[in-house]
Amino acid sequence: MNAAPAVARAAAFVAAFVLAPALLAACGGNAGDKAGMISVVTSLPVFADMVEQVGGDRVEVSSLFPAGADPHTFEPGPASVRRIVEADIVIVNGLDLEPGAVKVIEPNLASNTPLVKMAEVAANEGRIELRKFGEEGHIAGEPGEEGTDPHAWLSVPNAREYARVIHDALVQVDAKGAATYDSHYDAYLASLDDLDSYVKETVSAVPQGQGKIVSTHDAFGYIAEYLGFQVVAVVAVSPGQEPSASDIANLQNAVDDAGVRAVFQEPQLGAETDVLRGLASDLGIQVCTLYSDSLDKRVTTYIELIRFNADEIARCLAE
Ligand SMILES: [Zn+2]
Repeated sequence: MNAAPAVARAAAFVAAFVLAPALLAACGGNAGDKAGMISVVTSLPVFADMVEQVGGDRVEVSSLFPAGADPHTFEPGPASVRRIVEADIVIVNGLDLEPGAVKVIEPNLASNTPLVKMAEVAANEGRIELRKFGEEGHIAGEPGEEGTDPHAWLSVPNAREYARVIHDALVQVDAKGAATYDSHYDAYLASLDDLDSYVKETVSAVPQGQGKIVSTHDAFGYIAEYLGFQVVAVVAVSPGQEPSASDIANLQNAVDDAGVRAVFQEPQLGAETDVLRGLASDLGIQVCTLYSDSLDKRVTTYIELIRFNADEIARCLAE
């Protein structure tokens, strides 16, 4: 999908060059581009980190979403348009993870600037296997929910494939940088191998049968599969779907029946967290934290996100 010929790519650069001064005048901002660098725009901050790891100092990366934003409901503001128009490449997850972002990106993308949907590319190449929401029938109050779960990056083996998609996309828009991207990509894969070992070692502290996850939204199917755990229940399949009183009662029963040790809130969610806290308080169980779609000051990279999650799972489920 990124096989833009050189001529078309050149046209995209020209288009960005021509449009930029008008937009700068209109917005009154300062240019984000640094001379000679490939300008990459991502949806989530965690994807911006992955692009930085692979792109190094040949790329200038920014995310449309600020740290702490929920991709399912967040809509980038008008100030994002200039970054999209000027981008050499735009990289998102796809699979309807970030509908608000894609709605702004698609009409503002300069002609022939690639829009790379990483999970879709990796799945189309047969490198990652996509899951359906509620595959195990675990969704309290949402028995008929269907659709593909977009949160594939939360398993470390899948993150390797995201890195590969990023590498290939960067080489396509910046062939001169191929050697740099190759070496950064190899180094990042080595870091992800170390991360994989760390996660497996850390969660091995969780006894058989206690690897049960209850969370605010349905983001942890891939990580559960990767760890051999089970997602028992979620407050909402996707944020913003307010559960009814009977949904909450069903959820509480499911959590109680499963005998879970702890439930997991996510830093970027509000209303769903209140439901989860109420339930945990009623059942007298612990509320812990897992990161999924957002970064913050405590967790600033993908590797930190996964290490945090592994530590928290061990701390909360191994007792
Ligand atoms: Zn999510």
